[in-house]
Amino acid sequence: LGEQRAVLSARGLSRRFGGFLAVNNVDIDVFHGEIHALIGPNGAGKTTVFNLLTKFLQPTAGKITLMGEDITSTSPDRVARMGLVRSFQISAVFPHLTVLDNVRVALQRPNGLAHQFWRPMSALDTLTGKADALLTTVGLMRERDALAADLSYGRKRVLEIATTLALDPKVLLLDEPLAGMGQEDITAIAGLIRSVAKTRAVLMVEHNLSVVADICDRVTVLQRGEILAAGDYATVSQDPQVRTAYMGR
Ligand code: ADP
Repeated sequence: LGEQRAVLSARGLSRRFGGFLAVNNVDIDVFHGEIHALIGPNGAGKTTVFNLLTKFLQPTAGKITLMGEDITSTSPDRVARMGLVRSFQISAVFPHLTVLDNVRVALQRPNGLAHQFWRPMSALDTLTGKADALLTTVGLMRERDALAADLSYGRKRVLEIATTLALDPKVLLLDEPLAGMGQEDITAIAGLIRSVAKTRAVLMVEHNLSVVADICDRVTVLQRGEILAAGDYATVSQDPQVRTAYMGR
C-alpha cells in the first residue's frame, strides 16, 4: 500500500488547547477499500483527530490531504462535498419522518450538513428509486414506512449510516458505530460496515475490540495524543506497549 494511494492522509497532525497538546505529531493514512480503526483509552485524542480530519477543528500544525488535495485550510463544508463524511454530520435522524423520507431528504442534500436549504418534499418523489436501492443495501426495506422514532436504537444507527451513505462518501468516518448495541445489532452493523468499505475508505473509532479484530484491516493506537502503534490488529495487539497501556494485559 503506497502512500500515493491513501485517500485520506495526515502528517504531523497536532492540536493544542491552551498549554495542553491533545494531539501530537500524528501520521495516519486511510486507503480505499480498507476499514481502519482508531483506538485508545479515553482522553487519548481520538475525537480531536476526527474533528481535525473533518476540519471542525483547525490543526495547530501538520498537513491533511484528501485524494491528493491539500485540505489543511479547507472548510468542513467543502471537505464534506469532496467526499469526507462523518456519520454524525447528518445523524440527526428526523424522528417524525419515515425511514424512506429520512433517506430521501439525505439524498437531496449536497453535502450532508444540516444547515443546507432543502427542496420541497414533493421534489423528493424523484428520489424514491434511489432511496429504495439504498434501503435494500443496508437491510432496512422492512422498516421503510415506519417512523424513524419507532425504530430500536440499533436500527436507528443503521438508518443514520444509510443517510450518510446517501452522500456517496469516498471516506466514511464512524464515531463508535457499535456503542450501546446488543449482539444482533453489532453483527448487522459490522457486516454493513464491511460491505460499504468495499467501495470506499472507512475510518472508525471503536471500543469493541473483538469487532475491530474481526473487521478492521488496520488499527492506529493513540495514547496521550501520540501514536503508540499502528498496523494490522494481530501485530498491534501483541505489542507489549499496547498491551500494558491499553489492553491492560
Ligand atoms: P478521546 O476521544 O480519545 O476520548 P478527546 O479527543 O476527546 O479524546 O480528548 C483528548 C484530550 O483533549 C482530553 O484530555 C480532552 O480533555 C482534551 N480536549 C478535547 N477537546 C478540548 C477542548 N475543546 N478544550 C480543551 N481540552 C480539550
